[in-house]
Amino acid sequence: MNCSGKNSLTDAILDIIFPPHCLICGKRIRSGVICAECESRMEFLNYPLIEHTGKKHFYAVFRYGETVSEIVKLLKFGKRKVLASYVAKTICNFMQKENIEVKTVGYVPMSLRELKKRGFNQSRLIALHLSEMLGAKLFDGIKKVKETEKQVGLSRTGRIANVKGAFSVKGSPEGPMVIVDDVFTTGSTAHEVVKAVYGKNKIDIFFIAFSRRID
Ligand SMILES: [Zn+2]
Repeated sequence: MNCSGKNSLTDAILDIIFPPHCLICGKRIRSGVICAECESRMEFLNYPLIEHTGKKHFYAVFRYGETVSEIVKLLKFGKRKVLASYVAKTICNFMQKENIEVKTVGYVPMSLRELKKRGFNQSRLIALHLSEMLGAKLFDGIKKVKETEKQVGLSRTGRIANVKGAFSVKGSPEGPMVIVDDVFTTGSTAHEVVKAVYGKNKIDIFFIAFSRRID
């Protein structure tokens, strides 16, 4: 496990030629993407384990607060794809701390229509970087087969109904497996994705979200 990711030498050289700036506040930094001050405002959750039943575990690393929500938005809507590797690094460090070892890395998929609209799936990018850091296989077999409404603005029951049956799985991922996403809200999407994978293959599944929205 190497949570710093690959190409670190190239990155180090590039950092010297083009000194990076913090993507949140714009301050010049020596390396990386976020300055120490902004990073210090990222709040680790006191209870990262949201729930677990049998082989299914649900975690979130940070509270969806100041810096963390900026990171999510910049990655998702600002297309600052470099943040995917940063997010993967934090999840990798978290897994190391919690002694979570996996063979496969999956992610919450988008439908083809959603993918066309945004151009990329931020969760897949996070999973791609994470799989390289962990030396694990990237699993592309979770598919979103039903168009859903935006979860934002729906009630809890509405959210559950909205994503019901939205995912299907092609192939059998090797366990244990981690499934990543950027934000965990009510967990209806997370549950539905995990259910789809577990329904095909009774493996240990660790759903790990970068952040959790707590109202
Ligand atoms: Zn900063």
